[in-house]
Amino acid sequence: MRLNLIKFDSFDGILGADYHKEQTNFRLWSPIATKASVKLYPDGEPTSAKSKIITMEKFAQGVWSTVCAGDLKNVYYTYVVTIDNIEYEAVDPYAKAAGVNGKRGMVVDLAATNPAGWEGDLSPDFAHPTDAVIYELHIRDFSISEHSGMVYKGKYLAFTEENTESPTGLKTGIAHLCDLGVTHVHLLPCFDFISVDEAKLEQNAYNWGYDPGNYNLPEGSYATDPHHGSVRITEFKKMVQSLHKNGLRVVMDVVYNHTGRTEDSDFEKLVPNYYYRKNKAGNFMDGSGCGNETASERSMVRKFMIDSLVYWATEYHIDGFRFDLMALHDIETMNAIRDALFRVNPSILLYGEGWTGQKSGLPDSKQASKKNVRQLKDIAVFSDDIRNAVKGGVFEASNRGFVSGNFRAKKNLLLKWEPSQTVVYASCHDNLALWDKLKASCPAANEKELIAMNKLSALLVLTSQGIPFFQAGEEFARTKFGDENSYKSPDSTNRLSWERKAEYAGLYEYYRGLIAIRKAHPAFRLRTFDEIRTGLFVLPSPPSVFAYALNDSSGSFIVALNAGKKMNKITLPSSGWHVLVNQEKASVAPIDEIGDHILVMPPQSGFILQKK
Ligand code: CA
Repeated sequence: MRLNLIKFDSFDGILGADYHKEQTNFRLWSPIATKASVKLYPDGEPTSAKSKIITMEKFAQGVWSTVCAGDLKNVYYTYVVTIDNIEYEAVDPYAKAAGVNGKRGMVVDLAATNPAGWEGDLSPDFAHPTDAVIYELHIRDFSISEHSGMVYKGKYLAFTEENTESPTGLKTGIAHLCDLGVTHVHLLPCFDFISVDEAKLEQNAYNWGYDPGNYNLPEGSYATDPHHGSVRITEFKKMVQSLHKNGLRVVMDVVYNHTGRTEDSDFEKLVPNYYYRKNKAGNFMDGSGCGNETASERSMVRKFMIDSLVYWATEYHIDGFRFDLMALHDIETMNAIRDALFRVNPSILLYGEGWTGQKSGLPDSKQASKKNVRQLKDIAVFSDDIRNAVKGGVFEASNRGFVSGNFRAKKNLLLKWEPSQTVVYASCHDNLALWDKLKASCPAANEKELIAMNKLSALLVLTSQGIPFFQAGEEFARTKFGDENSYKSPDSTNRLSWERKAEYAGLYEYYRGLIAIRKAHPAFRLRTFDEIRTGLFVLPSPPSVFAYALNDSSGSFIVALNAGKKMNKITLPSSGWHVLVNQEKASVAPIDEIGDHILVMPPQSGFILQKK
C-alpha cells in the first residue's frame, strides 16, 4: 500500500524544530505515516533511554505538527513514525543541532550559539567569479601536523589561531593563507558525516566525509566537544568569522547527491520510496557509486536542498558551495538553488562536478552536467579537459599532459566556454596529488625537473581564464606518497606537512607571485568568452611551446611556456617588454626586461611579459 505522494509534496512552509523561548514547534513531512510523535531526550547519547513522547497531529499536505510549551533549549529529540504498521525512529532531516554522532537531533537556540561580534561578521568584498582563487582544504589536514604551530589540531578552532609558525619560523595556518593570497577557502565536507566515530576521537580516524549523516549541522569530530549540540555550531561560526576577518571567503563542499546510509537512512524511514531514485524493481539506483542517489527532481527533495543551502548561507554566512557529483542533480533544481541563494547573497560562488559517479536514473538531458552547462545560470563546472591537458589523465598514473611532455595536449589548454562557468585546476583531493602525478608519469625526472613542471602547471592554472582552483599544499609540492584515494588514509598521508614550505620555498614564492599578478591585472580574469575571443591570440610557436598574447584595457601581456627539454625561441608581436615571470620567479614588480622582439626560453620554463 502506497499513497500517491505527488499529491502531498507541495508543502512549502517551515519544517523541523522551530525554537522559541516559550514553545517549540515541531513539523515533519511524512504523508505516508499513520502515526507520528516527537520523542524528547535529556541528552544526545544514543545509549541513554529516558524519554518523553509527544503525539503529533496530521495536517494538510502530509505535514505532522505539534507545539511543545516551555523552554526546550538543548533538549534532544527524534521522530517516531508508523508506516505499514511498523514503527521507525529517525533523526529529523531538518535537525539544526545534534548529539554525538548525530544520533539525536537537538532543539537549539541559534542566537545563543553566536560568537561575540557575529552580528558584525561580513564577507570580504568579491565582485566576480573569475576574481576567485580557490584553495581546496580538508579541515583536519590543515592543522593536524605536529609542525603546524597550531594548538587546536584537527579542529574548527585552528582557523582562529593567528600568527602561527612552522619550526623554521615560516607562516602556517591562516597567516599562510593570507600570505599566499587566495580568496576562497573551499572546505571538504564539514556538515555532519557518519564515517568518523565522534565518541572515539582518540582513535584519530580520518575521512574526507563524503558520507552525509545530517545535512544541516556541522561535523562533530572537528569540534572540541561533539557531545553537546551547540559547541560545534559556535566553533564552526568562529572559524567562518576568523576567515572573513582575514579577508578569506568560505566555500562548503556539499554532498546532496547521496546519503551515507541507504535502506536505514532517515529519509527512507520517514517517507519510504520518495527521496531516492529507484528502478522499476524497487531497488536503489546508484549513480553516486555510494549505494544510492537522491531524487532532486522531486519537489520535497528540491525543497530540502534549497532550505539547507539557504540555511548555511544565512545562519553560517557561507560564501559559496561546491556540489559533489552535480550531474546527479537536475538542471531545474540547480537553477532554483541559484535563484534562492542569489536572493540571500548575489556574490555567492557556485560550482560543481559536472559528472556522475556511475550511471544515474536521471536522464542525461536533465543532468546538471558539464555537457549541459549552457542551461545552468551562474553555476560553474570543473574542467577535466584542461586538467588532463595540463598534467595528464587521472585514470592512468603514467598518462602525461603538456607540462610533462605530451605536447599534443596543447590544443586543450584553452577555455571553451564562459570563464565564469569554468573551474580550472590541475589537482584536487581526488586522484594523485600534482607532485605525485608528475613523479609517477615522469619516473626519470629529477627534483629540479619536477619543480619546473610543477611551476609550468601553476602558471597555466593561475593565468588561465576561468576560475582557478588548487588543492591545499600544492604550493609546497604536497605529496601523499602516491596514494591516489586517501579518503580514509591516516594523517601521516593526508596532513599538510608544513616543513615542506621551507624545503620548497622557491615554489611557494612562485605561486604567491602568480596569484599577486592575477589579482593585479584584470586581463588574466576576463569576465566573458567574447572578451577572450577578442583579447587572446595564440602565437605561432614550436610544438613544445604554448604561447599567447593577451590584450585588454589594462595592458598587453605575453604568456609563454616551453615544456620541452631544449631551449626554444619565439617571436614576440613587438619589442619592449617587462618580465614578470621567468623560470625562477613570479612577481608583480618587473624582474627583468626584453628590449627586442625575441623571447629565449630555457628548457621547461614559463614566462609572463608585460608590454612596457
Ligand atoms: Ca559525524
